[in-house]
Amino acid sequence: MAEGASFSVKTKNELARVFPEKICCKTAELSALVRMDGTVTISAHQKTGFFLVTDNSGIARKIYRMMKDVFNQDMEITVKRKNQLRKNILYQIQIRDDVQAPRILEALGIWDEKRRIIPGVPKDLVRTQCCRRSYLRGVFLGAGSVSRPEASYHLEITASHHKQAQALAGLVNRFAGMQAKIVARKQWHVVYLKDSEQIADFLNIVGAHQALMEFENIRIMKGMNNQVHRRLNCETANLTKTVDASIRQVQNIRRILDTHHTEQLTPALAELAELRLQNPVLSLKELGEMMDPPVGKSGVNHRMRKLEALAEEIEPAEQP
Ligand SMILES: [Zn+2]
Repeated sequence: MAEGASFSVKTKNELARVFPEKICCKTAELSALVRMDGTVTISAHQKTGFFLVTDNSGIARKIYRMMKDVFNQDMEITVKRKNQLRKNILYQIQIRDDVQAPRILEALGIWDEKRRIIPGVPKDLVRTQCCRRSYLRGVFLGAGSVSRPEASYHLEITASHHKQAQALAGLVNRFAGMQAKIVARKQWHVVYLKDSEQIADFLNIVGAHQALMEFENIRIMKGMNNQVHRRLNCETANLTKTVDASIRQVQNIRRILDTHHTEQLTPALAELAELRLQNPVLSLKELGEMMDPPVGKSGVNHRMRKLEALAEEIEPAEQP
């Protein structure tokens, strides 16, 4: 796998190697791949065929192998360069057999016996959970993408018709907790997930376990960063509050001392006043622990309010 390959490509490369065991699941996945990536061709002589195009060799191999497994059908694979200068290669996988092609299209629920395209998702192929997973795997391989979790949480499937998008969103949402939505983008109808939990669930549903692990690791790291930031902010805020309160307390105590009102201080208040002046940055709890005998936070708070009340009683005129 190329280094720096996008998370989408990594996920697809992994899914291209996931082979369902049961024929029902293989049929469902093939149906989705042909639906999303396939083109039905009808020649001038009414000969039917169809082909799929992909730039992923793993997906091409997968389609070839599953067609062989399910229909015992060999497909022609043609390799094309997308662009002379770039190395982009396209794989075209084709069936030209005029007898087999219509039979396969019908079996895959692409069209009915009268050769009318069946809209949406063929219900008969997604009756069981295993087949729904496989169908969604095919859909993602054919038309899906997922953002790097470092950047943002976004998974989408591009459909060409609104009805198809609705059917796909409906299929995704049959799984617990999923809430796929649809948005129109140019001529496309995009089914998407934005919630990280749901994207993780989707990766699990289609069997992209390595991608899921990478996704979760990054999600955890991002979550930890957020928590650390939140806690730092919180601690800074608390420290600021403590310091602000302490400055006010020191001012109050100074006012009492400077205006010779110390005789009004009980021994307990005098002790606290002195401790505060000596330790302006300690919390009330810490001051309480230094007292003899130690006093709890609420006790210290109570005494500090008495000091404050005393300071407020002193007439402004008496202030130096
Ligand atoms: Zn199945």
